[in-house]
Amino acid sequence: MLLCNRSQRKPAANHVPEGELSRAREEKILGKVVAVANQKGGVGKTTTAVNLSSSVASQGKRVLIVDLDPQGNTTSGFGVTKRGIETSVYQLLMGEAAAEDAVIHTQYRVDLLASNIQLTGAGLELVNLSRRESRLREALAPIIGQYDFIFIDCPPSLDLLTLNGLCACDTVLVPIQCEFFALEGLSELMNTIRNVKKMYNPYIEIEGVLLTMYDGRLNLTLQVVQEVKKYFHNKVYKTTIPRNVRLSEAPSFGAPINYYDGASKGTEAYAYLAAEFIRNNRKEGA
Ligand code: ATP
Ligand code: MG
Repeated sequence: MLLCNRSQRKPAANHVPEGELSRAREEKILGKVVAVANQKGGVGKTTTAVNLSSSVASQGKRVLIVDLDPQGNTTSGFGVTKRGIETSVYQLLMGEAAAEDAVIHTQYRVDLLASNIQLTGAGLELVNLSRRESRLREALAPIIGQYDFIFIDCPPSLDLLTLNGLCACDTVLVPIQCEFFALEGLSELMNTIRNVKKMYNPYIEIEGVLLTMYDGRLNLTLQVVQEVKKYFHNKVYKTTIPRNVRLSEAPSFGAPINYYDGASKGTEAYAYLAAEFIRNNRKEGA
């Protein structure tokens, strides 16, 4: 396994100082942090973050999800009322609260660091603060050892919020919608990831590229798949996510798809993705 078992882990409450974080990451003794990012809007980032994290948790992993988007769709997707949040990601980024005080234990086996519209101002407010790009990374450090996987749902931009997500993560999962101009903007995302690697986070890599709203009957979908594979080669997940109306309904019921409709195509697709994701994260030979 890439991740160590519980007995090898540092004690849950043990703070990992920032200086030791990189070494700990190198030795793979901490939970893996995966940012779900694509600055293009509406490509399925939140749907993937919510349902992949829930499916990974249902396969026995300890999972935290971080809602880094002021829209707060991940927060409401887990049935948490945005207005009722006492301590949100905003307070974490501003250094006003500790992550362990902000964690919400949802009813779906996934822990959540929640967000709401208050986070909109953070992008601007962070500009004048020190270590503005590594605020999330520092905030997560004390709790990172408590989880197998931490997913970060990034907003549709390449601003300071997303930069915080990229600096805090080990890998980036990129959802791509099978539609016209699917690859538009991806070179900017890849450039940003390269720059983050050079300047802040030498460990960052692509976790995988996920084709969403896939319809194998459409020529357009098949063209997009070809293009994406030409660009990302074996980083493209074998699992694809079909267009499924149950996936779009689930958020309004405040439940991940595997709880909202366990028999749906959407549940099946994200369960396959979770299995592929977990397989990819097993150490060779394990
Ligand atoms: P934003 O950039 O605004 O954060 P996003 O990339 O997070 O958007 P989602 O919110 O996940 O994208 O999805 C956009 C819309 O498409 C939502 O209404 C969602 O319910 C719907 N959707 C996402 N994936 C699917 C799918 N596989 N089948 C049907 N509807 C989907
Ligand atoms: Mg979203």
